[in-house]
Amino acid sequence: MNLAHWLERSACVGGDRPALMLGGEVVADYATFHARAAGLACALSEAGVAPGDRVGIFMKNCPDYLVVLFGIWIAGGVAVPINAKLHAREAAWILQDSGAGSAFVTPDLGPGLAEVTELPLTDVTGPEFAARIHGPGRAIAPRAPEDMAWLFYTSGTTGRPKGVEITHGMLMATSLAYPVDVDPVDPGDAAYYAAPMSHGAGIYAPIHVRMGCRHICPPSGGYDAGELLEIAAHHGPLSMFMAPTMVRRLTDAAKAAQTRGEGIKTIVYGGGPMYVADIAEAVDWFGPKFVQIYGQGECPMAITALSRSDVADRDHPRWRDRLASVGRAQSVVEVAIGDARGEALPPGMAGEIMVRGLPVMPGYWQNPEATDKTLRDGWLMTGDIGVLDADGYLILRDRSKDVIISGGTNIYPREVEEALLLHPSVHEVSVVGRPSEEWGEDVVAFVVAAPGHAVDPAALDAHCLDQIARFKRPKDYVVLTELPKNNYGKVLKTELRKAWEDRA
Ligand code: AMP
Repeated sequence: MNLAHWLERSACVGGDRPALMLGGEVVADYATFHARAAGLACALSEAGVAPGDRVGIFMKNCPDYLVVLFGIWIAGGVAVPINAKLHAREAAWILQDSGAGSAFVTPDLGPGLAEVTELPLTDVTGPEFAARIHGPGRAIAPRAPEDMAWLFYTSGTTGRPKGVEITHGMLMATSLAYPVDVDPVDPGDAAYYAAPMSHGAGIYAPIHVRMGCRHICPPSGGYDAGELLEIAAHHGPLSMFMAPTMVRRLTDAAKAAQTRGEGIKTIVYGGGPMYVADIAEAVDWFGPKFVQIYGQGECPMAITALSRSDVADRDHPRWRDRLASVGRAQSVVEVAIGDARGEALPPGMAGEIMVRGLPVMPGYWQNPEATDKTLRDGWLMTGDIGVLDADGYLILRDRSKDVIISGGTNIYPREVEEALLLHPSVHEVSVVGRPSEEWGEDVVAFVVAAPGHAVDPAALDAHCLDQIARFKRPKDYVVLTELPKNNYGKVLKTELRKAWEDRA
């Protein structure tokens, strides 16, 4: 079944319901949203896009993002959404690797891309796009669950990104797990696109289309905490996906404005480590609005979830432990911890997190070597290290390549980071290993000072002695004004390790 049927059904039963909004302004009801996507699909088919053909999307967040996504699906095509923050050359590389024959762009990104690719680009604010979406529609192309819907390029913290083949069946599994494991969806809700639609926020669009919700794009096209608080106050209840760093910024902005996030129903956070100190502060300020998910492109948004009550229930005797976990397996997957040979380990033992189930990818696009390394006996090897507790809560340690081995003992940087973040002088921190002749690796912490504070290594050392085992303490501290991050806000540990080598 083609995922686009969900749009057709919402248009059929609630065609006059508001669907696409730019800030507070309704730009299309469901009948119009469907007609435009079907019109675009017809034009794509006439232009030669056959089922299975790839079509690029290099657009900032805007309501037409969803028209393009569903238009491609109605035509049976495969969407290739590209992070709008990437350099035009990186976007051109992805288009070429995917074999896309054309792409849709927003005016801020089109001209730069046109300089580095010869592919036909359609600006969604131009007359050609308007003519296409207002033309006659076409019927939904039949698609099987194993047919590709979305070619998702990983964020590539090391080397070139890989294309993850996301099928219609995977997206349906992720979508249907959402109301069961993450958050029930009410037709009166609005999905708010604070994070890039090319990533997790976009993966959550189909379930909100299925339920006939409103879809609100911020007029800024990006993440502005003040703008979000303002829109939420007038157009809630809003649900949205956020990376942990976005939650941190939201808490800071709401505290400065003395608002409690009225109109925000749910913030689903994930995609990177959320430190206990940060989420506890956010829950204290906003109340029980948070749910955590753990996923990766290879099993989009659907490995584990930490429920709203798990996040907020301070009275539970294991609240803090659970808050430091990523929750329990979502309904559509099995989660296990494997040893070096991929054999399952008992609860309490650390190893590589393995996942199998409906939302797991069939493989990487045209990359059998990487696929073979990542899929073993039906299990997705995530490359993340974790431990399952006796109740099935997964504690995510670190990417396996980030684990520090010092004197033969594993040190998980996240544990050291969590400890340092409890110190008032530390605003942000990232811990990496540096080569050491004596120990193999030593622990080094890169610290961003909290406003109005200076970083004092001796004070931090004393603080660590209070919190964690001696051997895990950083041997050195480096103060930075900001941490290097990729376009999704993930800290680039590779650059920190390199920065250390360059200093040495
Ligand atoms: P991507 O495929 O770009 O979405 O990156 C996925 C990776 O982000 C995972 O393999 C984890 O290392 C990390 N990640 C995702 N969700 C979480 C989470 N809730 N907590 C910590 N790390 C996460």
